[in-house]
Amino acid sequence: MPRLTGDQRARIEELAREVGTRCEGCGSARLRCGEEARRTHDHGLMVYLWCDDDVHPRGAYQYFTIPAGEFIGT
Ligand SMILES: [Zn+2]
Repeated sequence: MPRLTGDQRARIEELAREVGTRCEGCGSARLRCGEEARRTHDHGLMVYLWCDDDVHPRGAYQYFTIPAGEFIGT
């Protein structure tokens, strides 16, 4: 499981914003990328996006898939 650098995570957060990703629970666009990525079967990357809003006392996350060919420097 590849570990993401700070730069990669920042790039993924930017990418998520560009495509209009929002928290499924509260609709917030302030999502933080998790530290680990998983390869998908078609060579994309799957990451966790954590919601930064305090409406989720125990945290909330959702999956985000980066299509193969989207360059994040892995
Ligand atoms: Zn949320």
